[in-house]
This record gives sequence, C-alpha cells and structure tokens, in this order.
Amino acid sequence: MDERARIVEELMKNEILVEPEVVDYIIERGGVEFLPKFIESHKNSVLVTLSSLEPREEKKEKVEVKEEIVEAKEEVERKVEVQLPSPRREAEEYDWDFKVLVDAGDASSRGKVDDFRSMFLDRYRRLSRIVRKKFYGSVQDIGNLADGEVSVVGIVDDVRFSSRGGVSFTIEDPTGRVRCFYPEGDFILNDEVIGVRGRYRADKDVIYVSEITRPGFTAPKREPAEEDIAAVVVSDIHVGSNTFLRERWEKFVNWLISGEKDAGRVKYLVIGGDLVDGIGIYPGQEEELEILDIYGQYQALAEYINRLPDYIKVIIIPGNHDFVRNAEPQPPLPKEIRDYFNGNAVFLSNPTSFVLHGFKFLLYHGTSLNDLVEVLPGMSYDTIGEIMAKMLEMRHLAPLYGGKVPVAPLPRDFLTIDIVPDVFVTGHVHSYAYDKVRNVHIINASCWQAQTKYQKMMNFNPVPGKVAYVDLHRDVVRELSF
Ligand code: FE
Ligand code: ZN
Repeated sequence: MDERARIVEELMKNEILVEPEVVDYIIERGGVEFLPKFIESHKNSVLVTLSSLEPREEKKEKVEVKEEIVEAKEEVERKVEVQLPSPRREAEEYDWDFKVLVDAGDASSRGKVDDFRSMFLDRYRRLSRIVRKKFYGSVQDIGNLADGEVSVVGIVDDVRFSSRGGVSFTIEDPTGRVRCFYPEGDFILNDEVIGVRGRYRADKDVIYVSEITRPGFTAPKREPAEEDIAAVVVSDIHVGSNTFLRERWEKFVNWLISGEKDAGRVKYLVIGGDLVDGIGIYPGQEEELEILDIYGQYQALAEYINRLPDYIKVIIIPGNHDFVRNAEPQPPLPKEIRDYFNGNAVFLSNPTSFVLHGFKFLLYHGTSLNDLVEVLPGMSYDTIGEIMAKMLEMRHLAPLYGGKVPVAPLPRDFLTIDIVPDVFVTGHVHSYAYDKVRNVHIINASCWQAQTKYQKMMNFNPVPGKVAYVDLHRDVVRELSF
C-alpha cells in the first residue's frame, strides 16, 4: 500500500473527510508520522479543506516557530560577533568575590607642611609597631637614652656613606633624634622606618649600631580559591601613543573574548596604570601621539574593555600618564572618564589593595621603582622583582621622600604596606618580572608600548606584550605572551 492510500484509510477510520490537497499537505509534513497529530487536531471536523488549514493551524504555528528560530539564531549570531563560541567558560559559572581592603579614594589634601608632618608620623606609628614586636617591646625612647646597649625605632634621615665603607645616619622618634654609625654599609634609605640595636655613648651622643631591623614580612598563609578561576594582570597600555602595540593588545583582548581554555577561567582583569599615553606628560610628546585628545585616548581604551565578556571584572588604577593628579596616592580616574566604561570596570586609587577570592592584592603603578633602582646597591631594571621584595621588607612603596615620586601630604600614609599581600603588582618600568618571595607572588606587569625615543636614548629595552596569569585555584602565576 502506498503512503497516500494508508493516509486516506487512516483518516476514514477516524471519520475524517479531506480534500485531496490536504493529503498532499499531510505528506509534505511527514506523512504517516505526522498523521496522529493531524487526526488529533481534526477529530471533530467532518470535512477538512486546505483553505481551512492555511490560516488556522499548521501554517500559523509554523510561522511562529520560524520567527522564534530566526530570533534565536540572531541572538546566537550577535553573541558570536561579540564573543566567539566556546563550549563552556569556567569563569561564567561563579560569582565575583571582590572586596577593597585599603584605598585612598579621592582623598584630597590641602598640602600644608603640617600635613607632611602628620603623614610621616602616621608612617612612623604604623611601621614602628611592627618593628617593636620584633624587639619584644624592649625599645627605648631616643630622647631618654643612657650609656650602654640600646634598642630604638625611628625614621632614618641624613644618610651618609663614608669612604671606609660604613654608613652614618640619624634616627628620629617623637621624643628625639640621635646619630648612628653602622660599619656594615648595608643599604639604608632616608625616610624608612627601622629599628637599631647598638651601644649608646652619651658623651658623643652616638649609637654604634650592631644590628638593623626592618619591619619585614612573614609569608602569608592562604587557601587557594575553590573556584577554578584566574586573574590576569597587565599594565602600561599607553593607548594613544604611536608606539602603542595595537595588534598585540588586540590579540590579548580577543583571547579573553574567545573564552577558550585558560581564557575561559579569567574572572578578573587587573590593570596597573598608564592606561593611555596622556598629553603633556613630557616635552615633545605630541610628536609621538596618535590620538591627540585625552578623552579620545580613554574612549579608545573603553571600546576594548567594553567588548570583554560580562563575567570579567576589570580593576583599574591610574599611573603617571593618566588624567589624575600625579602626587601619590593618586585618586581613581574622574567620573567623566569612568563613564566611558561599562559597569564591570572598577576604578581604584594608586596604590590600592583588594581581595579576590581570599587572595590579597597590592597594586601600585610603580613610580618609585625609578628611584629605588638607583639608590639600592646592586639593583638594575633586570632586578625589579628584588626591588619589590625590598619594598615589602621596608613595608613601604616609596620610602624615599623627595625623589621622583611626588607625594600628596595626607594625614594617612597610603604608601605604607600595612598588610602583607599574597600578590604584589607593579608596572611603570615596562619590563616583566615574576618572583615568589616568602609565598608572595611578585609581579611587574610588562607593557603594550614599543620602545619610545626616550627609552632608546636611555638604552632601555622594554619587555612588552606579557600577561601574568594568576591562577587562583592552583596558586601559581604563569607568564603569557601576546
Ligand atoms: Fe608606563
Ligand atoms: Zn608609568
């Protein structure tokens, strides 16, 4: 029996009469297989005509279905445009766990001499507390010293190195100041807070130092994140410069968008400042700019950031090229700039400190690295990780006052490192460094700018296009290249 005959027989059994065209209609839609559905919806009809079918059931239903399919398809296509397809993105499945620990916000200062005094006093209070603990509390006031063995804690000043290799300096606490001689010639910086042990001679008003104690840091203990996610750390994008490495930056952005493998586990993007090249940052900069308008530079950056998948939170601090005051702590970018970015971007001060899934981050642009590379013996731009470890040792991001780092006099010293981080990030020097010192991940986060004329003059070769991939689940940092 052919299909047509079977259909007619089946319809007769169910007492349904149809026009011949309706049989064609049924065959078109699957024949015998479609039949039960047809019978179900027409069991009360005496005669089914094609014209009665067209507007009413199947066709209309089909159009609706079609529209749905088209809509769904469009949505898929739209998604594909923004984010390439990926089977499964780990990062999408978890919530953000982000908390700010210490941030200067846009605290402004009146810039009076008094404020500098209170800032240094704040530094002394915070850091001397840490040193005192190491001395088990047996610390004398400098204004009240007697002949013999002494332990004091204070701020260093007037450091002088002698030709015989020793060093002399003064140390000051709120009760007084005293000159110290230290034969070891270790590194010692003006304005750092240290403890000294030694023999005090009242007739010369001098401490002959036997030991210097810095605040230092102990290894942080932490539980890796339960979620299989990561934070990627970059810095110094310098959008707007004609040496901005657009292709490599876009390769990185597209990788994030792709959500493939490791990219799909990225829940946070951390940016350490110098987002754009800025304007009027150094003499003759106009000649090296591609985007001459500061707002245009930020708009160009925001276009990239706004294209990122919406499960990625972007944490942004400014650097010395950005459109905020240069004095540190630098406030977050102003509202008119923030408004270019979508809601996933968070704007914090430089420096700032925050927690991601139990990992404490200390994020600092790194302007002081230019000073420290010069004043710390044996250091160079190849030893940025070591310099950063020394910052932790001193518990200060820019201990040296009066160097290249302009400081905003606030009653609180935001450059003091109160909390030992799990991840310590700087940028600014356009190199890449990763070290793990006493369980602290130390990262200098590369750049996205090729060698500038200035760097060429300085014979400095940048290390661009590197990304630190901080795997919060496995507690490891990997270097990625774009
Ligand atoms: Fe930079
Ligand atoms: Zn910089």
